[in-house]
Amino acid sequence: MRKIIMAGNWKMHKTVGESVALAAQLNAALGDAMEREMLVCPPFTALYAVAKALQGSTVQVGAQNLFPADEGAFTGEISPKMLLDVGCSYAILGHSERREYLQESDQFINQKLKTALEHGLKPILCVGETLEQRGEGRQKAVVSMQVHQGLQDIPAEAMEQVAVAYEPIWAIGTGQTATPSQADEMHSAIRNNLSGLYGDEVAQDVCIMYGGSVKPGNVDELMAQPEVDGALVGGASLDAESFVRIVRFQS
Ligand code: PEP
Repeated sequence: MRKIIMAGNWKMHKTVGESVALAAQLNAALGDAMEREMLVCPPFTALYAVAKALQGSTVQVGAQNLFPADEGAFTGEISPKMLLDVGCSYAILGHSERREYLQESDQFINQKLKTALEHGLKPILCVGETLEQRGEGRQKAVVSMQVHQGLQDIPAEAMEQVAVAYEPIWAIGTGQTATPSQADEMHSAIRNNLSGLYGDEVAQDVCIMYGGSVKPGNVDELMAQPEVDGALVGGASLDAESFVRIVRFQS
């Protein structure tokens, strides 16, 4: 069955104290089991404290990145083993900000996915086109390449653990959301890519999330689209009231 996943990406925001306070507010408001997976992805420095604050909660914890090795001489990096140790169950991989500012390649992102899966961390693979690429009509080709390369050599059996987040770069942090039909069309294209790789049955069960200026005011319409199975929320996840409303979308 296709999962619904509602995730908050806190990016480089919040101290440990602020993170724990937000986690406590979310736990109080979302503690009752809903048939949706919910998670927050605080900065590395707050992961342990947030996971502790959310112990036993239905709100899970994810990392915003990882390095594809168990341990070693990789100054400044964090391994999947360490993330599991502090209570993470998910990892956002290939976010466009990391692709752009840290020059992460599809091959490197693919290595991260494989390492995450080997350790039992659930990857959220982010894909999406720039405004320029969309202007040239290349959005489906760009995203298809990211999906194929990001998932290279990942077997069908592992796809139960993988979610894909379609995040058009022009919609991230800009307040400009893809229209529900633009999102649905791109999600359909991604589902077709997945069908080509794994067959229809596997593809139908993969959760494809939308990200890009999701807000309380637009979430219901986005989530009503047949191919939109979840949301990856940046800015609007930093405030408890707004994230709670997003997680409790009405379709
Ligand atoms: C994101 O961080 O992945 C994101 C979609 O950010 P925002 O919701 O702020 O556009």
